Amino acid sequence: MNLILFGPPGVGKGTQAKILSQKFNIPHISTGDMLREAVEKKTSLGLKAKEIMDSGRLVPDEVMVEIIKDTLCSEKCKNGFILDGFPRTVEQAKALSKIFNEFGLEKPIVIDLNLDEQEIIRRITNRRSCKNCGSLFNLLYDKFDDVCPICGSRGTIYQRNDDTQEVIAKRLEIYKASTLPVKNFYKENNAYFISIDGFGEIAEITQKIIEAVERVNRS
Ligand code: AMP
Repeated sequence: MNLILFGPPGVGKGTQAKILSQKFNIPHISTGDMLREAVEKKTSLGLKAKEIMDSGRLVPDEVMVEIIKDTLCSEKCKNGFILDGFPRTVEQAKALSKIFNEFGLEKPIVIDLNLDEQEIIRRITNRRSCKNCGSLFNLLYDKFDDVCPICGSRGTIYQRNDDTQEVIAKRLEIYKASTLPVKNFYKENNAYFISIDGFGEIAEITQKIIEAVERVNRS
């Protein structure tokens, strides 16, 4: 099964992808996490991407398509995958369709998560994550101090450079201009497209996604 989690920054794609990855036993492929790892390791990709990411802009399509192609064709994705953060432009969506055709991959299920802008900003500015295990937290709902409640490491919980109020405004602007048109691409092209309200409890949204996926798999 090939799932694409689509939606604005902060809607909960990463949180849901981590849960669904365990539930369906397929890998969570987050282009944002891949880029942050490259930045952390100071690879040539990371050195190029850092400034772009910190300013809330998008890394060029050709770079992203190359990364995603290598990943989706790797052994770990042979039973399917959950894409989080890709595609983010119509060009990326077109390139992804080509990859699906070229490698005969099963038609994707696109889960379109929606949330109003005020709630997005509230969630993102309170978002924190653990550098060690990648777990995501939110100051609004989670209780923790200097120790990660998941992996137990100390001093590893941090706020992303691009989760500040100014950068979020830029990311939302780019989302509307470059990423929203991807919705129409999937409505018109070879995909199952399902819109889900991203407002509410994490478990409630997971349940809605699972039910939607099961409906597709039964059809
Ligand atoms: P995310 O963790 O998905 O919010 O991504 C963080 C940042 O990484 C984005 O704001 C972009 O700068 C970059 N990025 C992640 N995925 C993509 C993509 N598919 N295309 C271009 N840039 C991306």
